[in-house]
Amino acid sequence: MWTLIRYPEKADWKNWLKRPDSDAARIRQRVEEILSSVRAKGDKALLELTAELDGVHLDRLALAVPDPKTIARRLPAGLLQAIDLAMANIRKFHEAQLTDTVEVETMPGIRCWQKSLPIESVGLYIPGGSAPLFSTLMMLAVPARIAGCRQLVVCSPPMPDGQLHPALLYVAGVCEIPVIYRVGGAQAIAAMAWGTETIPRVDKIFGPGNRYVTMAKQLLQQEGIAIDMPAGPSEVAVLGDSSCPPEFAAADLLSQAEHGPDSQVILVSTDESWIQAVEAALHTQLSALPRQEIAAHALSHSKAFLMKDEEQAIELLNAYAPEHLILACRNAHTLANKILHAGSVFIGQYAPESVGDYASGTNHTLPTAGYARAWSGVHLDSFRKKISFQELTLEGLRAIGPAVETLALAEGLQAHQQAVAIRLQYTKNSC
Ligand code: NAD
Repeated sequence: MWTLIRYPEKADWKNWLKRPDSDAARIRQRVEEILSSVRAKGDKALLELTAELDGVHLDRLALAVPDPKTIARRLPAGLLQAIDLAMANIRKFHEAQLTDTVEVETMPGIRCWQKSLPIESVGLYIPGGSAPLFSTLMMLAVPARIAGCRQLVVCSPPMPDGQLHPALLYVAGVCEIPVIYRVGGAQAIAAMAWGTETIPRVDKIFGPGNRYVTMAKQLLQQEGIAIDMPAGPSEVAVLGDSSCPPEFAAADLLSQAEHGPDSQVILVSTDESWIQAVEAALHTQLSALPRQEIAAHALSHSKAFLMKDEEQAIELLNAYAPEHLILACRNAHTLANKILHAGSVFIGQYAPESVGDYASGTNHTLPTAGYARAWSGVHLDSFRKKISFQELTLEGLRAIGPAVETLALAEGLQAHQQAVAIRLQYTKNSC
């Protein structure tokens, strides 16, 4: 099932903690071809690639979003209630992230402030290759609307019948998104980055996806296109002990393993018998899953680590920087304070990662592959940018001017010094 690593030497951690990245060169080459094709042929390339990669022949990409009340009739009442509950929590958590303008008088006569403004046009990628992740639209469109983004361009791969999942249309309708473009993969990212005849160019691209999607975002970022973060194949690390029923941990591991064959799950414990109990529970639960083939593939490159003590376990987890981290152990709350690198942390045995995936309110678009060392998951400010302002009185300029002149001359930038000196000279006799 997975590799059990007992008391790994620190020198070997890096090697053990590698993400599955087979075929990276091939994926890059394929994505480069797709990007070139979209750049050269626009919509025609999108339609051709949708036929080739999704097996769906479309005559147009845009699908108008019906009124949410109409779509609601096509959804089971329980699902509608669940979506509404999830969206309300996501709204609450992201509204709480709205901040006031920061304003400071750094010296008498020098006022500095910072204003947060929405990014005007954002592209939201909603994965749909193996499962229609309408939850991702909740995670992206709700904060984008709170942030005040004017235009939300949404792309998602069509289902085999060429349609989009009704729940996706419902969420879009509630978020006042008039149209969704039926296109997925690297080609959707390229379309939003450069624009095509049908799909508008956006200022920033958001959304998770498979390795093609993530590679496209990363390549386009090198061209100066803004992206939220590299949010690739899902991963979870669970730190647990015998205080948590092994069945809980097994279910959490499977919840990420079922995302895709290149997902990765990691179990960490100081108790070998608990690791064995989790493995036994994994076998039982896996055999009952509809997506067991996918999950089994993901488990085949996953790892269980037996660590000497909690301190080392935390150090290992920080080195891994997982997208999701579940602390299902006795002193979970205390240990949470020692976490330095993770996308989202779930504390205690009653916090399964799926609640964050769907409904607790936190965002599920998170950095993978160790990017949590430096990147945050999607949050309200991902949809906003900050402009700094400053205003000086003559008194302020007189107070700060000599320091600025000294600094400019020390750097050999005389024109910088002049910009201050000329003003001070000009106003020498003013009071
Ligand atoms: P997807 O929408 O990301 O990708 C589907 C598209 O990939 C297809 O439309 C197709 O165009 C393209 N594609 C498939 N095979 C291809 C090939 N051989 N060559 C070129 N393009 C190809 O959907 P998915 O595949 O189901 O993947 C969703 C991913 O999103 C999973 O890996 C999941 O773990 C991840 N995810 C990550 C997060 C996060 O925050 N990091 C959150 C949710 C989901």
